[in-house]
Amino acid sequence: MAEKWQNWSRSLQFAPERIVKPTSTVEIQELVREVGANGGTIRVVGQGHSSSPLVATDDTLVSLEEMSGVESADRDRCEAWVRPGTTLEVMGEELLEEDLAVHNLGDVNVQQLGGAIGTGTHGTGRELGNLSTMLLGVRMITADGNLVERHIEDDPDFIRAARVALGTLGIFTCLRISAQPAYKLHRQEWCTGVEDCLEHLHELIESNRNFDFYWYPRSDEVKLRTLNPPGETPEIPYADLLEESVEWAPRIIAKTRELRFDEMEYCMPIGAGPAAFRKVRRRLLDRHRREVAWRTLYRTTAPDDAMLSTSYRRETSVLSIHHNNELPFEEFFTDIEPILCDHHGRPHWGKKHNLRAAELAERYPEWDRFQEIRRRLDPKGLFMTDYLRELLGD
Ligand SMILES: Cc1cc2nc3c(=O)[nH]c(=O)nc-3n(C[C@H](O)[C@H](O)[C@H](O)COP(=O)(O)OP(=O)(O)OC[C@H]3O[C@@H](n4cnc5c(N)ncnc54)[C@H](O)[C@@H]3O)c2cc1C
Repeated sequence: MAEKWQNWSRSLQFAPERIVKPTSTVEIQELVREVGANGGTIRVVGQGHSSSPLVATDDTLVSLEEMSGVESADRDRCEAWVRPGTTLEVMGEELLEEDLAVHNLGDVNVQQLGGAIGTGTHGTGRELGNLSTMLLGVRMITADGNLVERHIEDDPDFIRAARVALGTLGIFTCLRISAQPAYKLHRQEWCTGVEDCLEHLHELIESNRNFDFYWYPRSDEVKLRTLNPPGETPEIPYADLLEESVEWAPRIIAKTRELRFDEMEYCMPIGAGPAAFRKVRRRLLDRHRREVAWRTLYRTTAPDDAMLSTSYRRETSVLSIHHNNELPFEEFFTDIEPILCDHHGRPHWGKKHNLRAAELAERYPEWDRFQEIRRRLDPKGLFMTDYLRELLGD
């Protein structure tokens, strides 16, 4: 009997034929072979925090939540093997026990490692790459049921494809990631006016390890958030300090989100960010202020070389439009989206957007290379759905 499934924001609901929670690699292999032999399809799901229909299926949904925890850590090499069902929060605590920490996190730490890497989840920081950049090696089950192991040192193209793969290359069973010696950060949150923030934006991005700001359309004010090594915190004389604390990085970068929201996010060349933000702000104030109850987030990320990374070979400004999940989002997001596209934006794979293969292919120089690797690994489309065929252009 079909079970109902919904994502975190509740904007996606579907009924997979079955939801399977394997506890071992062998179980996954058996499942993949059985579904393949019966002509079925599989989608693997993480924590269900994506709001684009990446995991939607009426066939088999596989969750690796039972395959959690750090399998091994190497302090000298600053690396670890982590099971994909491990949430970023659990991974942070288990790595701390080994005196290790990852270089960054996004806004929350509830995602599973496999899911976060699956869509190129990122935090903020001009010199900090997204979480997929941590991936050094994978063990995964491919569509033929085989267990393969690949490393950046011996098959860089495979890893550059696997770093943002949307669950279309196979099912990760263990991930080798880079880390660094455990470190603390000083977090500060400030309030100021939009123009003060934009006037100093370049300096704020340059002088803080992690910097982002939230703009609130109703008040037209911004909240600045900075994270720096303790003792290296720049002054911000034009802003009021609201709160601050010092903690181990994995405990302080991410926040807890109670209020559920839907989100559209585009990643643009870093220089396009301020102009895009100004246009989005104008459009919001002119047309949507009365209905829009929430905020816009501005971040930056470092370039990387994952084939489908939204930061592929460019320093990036990221604009995320948050909208209370109890309000309709389609009309609002559809009105804002062309502004972000016009600024050479690439949509976050796990958030709301309306782009399909034709528009996406031209935004990713190694698009064809990724599709080639995907088709080689999964020639019959075991990990595909109608949505993914539209998205990736099969
Ligand atoms: C409150 C909230 C805050 C967020 N903050 C940020 C943020 O700060 N920065 C940001 O970039 N994004 C953010 N996101 C988006 C979120 O990080 C991504 O959508 C992420 O992919 C969700 O991870 P998940 O574990 O829920 O995976 P899911 O959404 O369930 O899956 C994501 C993808 O990973 C694949 N996948 C999962 N497990 C495996 C596996 N074992 N093997 C192969 N593929 C797998 C799935 O097939 C799917 O394609 C946020 C989302 C929410 C709801």
